[in-house]
Amino acid sequence: MAENKSTELTPRRKKLIYSLIVAIAVLMIATATALTVYFVTRGNDEILDNPPPVDNPDNSDKPDKPDKPDEPDKPSDGDNTVKFVCPLEDEKCVVEYDAIYTNKTLNRIYRHRGVDFEAAEGTQVCAIADGKVTAVSLSEELGNVITLDHGDGLMSYYRFVEPVSDLNVGDTVRQGAVIGTVAKAYGTEADDGTHLHLEIELNGKGVDPSGYFEFTYEEK
Ligand SMILES: [Zn+2]
Repeated sequence: MAENKSTELTPRRKKLIYSLIVAIAVLMIATATALTVYFVTRGNDEILDNPPPVDNPDNSDKPDKPDKPDEPDKPSDGDNTVKFVCPLEDEKCVVEYDAIYTNKTLNRIYRHRGVDFEAAEGTQVCAIADGKVTAVSLSEELGNVITLDHGDGLMSYYRFVEPVSDLNVGDTVRQGAVIGTVAKAYGTEADDGTHLHLEIELNGKGVDPSGYFEFTYEEK
């Protein structure tokens, strides 16, 4: 029976096949490990090279606000410049909306969710449009915030201000009415100098104020 003889595995052959299987398995594990190490290391390098911007901690008191608006910032109808006014008579924007910059106070990369207007302490701040006062939040930590509801889902937030003494929640304000004065900067922007931090939200999402009224940007 020559056929049977040729297909029969001798102990030596068996040993050879086992060794081969073990060698292939070791090779596969080694390749997988090498690939994992390569990709993991590569990922870390990318993160280190390009640190992701941090979210503005200013929004910590507004948990409902989404972190990253995925729709265009500017309102679709371009006629809003007529309807809104700048909150400061002498506007000088020093930090633009959504700017990514190194925050002096935090000493880290920071995404700015509002617009900063440089202004001396005591400069009058006015309502950008007719609206209703929905909050006058006094905070030692983050500075005072005045919140106005302009209807149709549009809100405006004025940070680092001293509200006028007779401003109360529920008050109706007219466009251009003085609602407060610029105060000392606090919290996350304490070292940015005296300024007004303005945020506008449309349906709960941050939008670029430059889509609502005109102002000039001047680099600090
Ligand atoms: Zn700011």
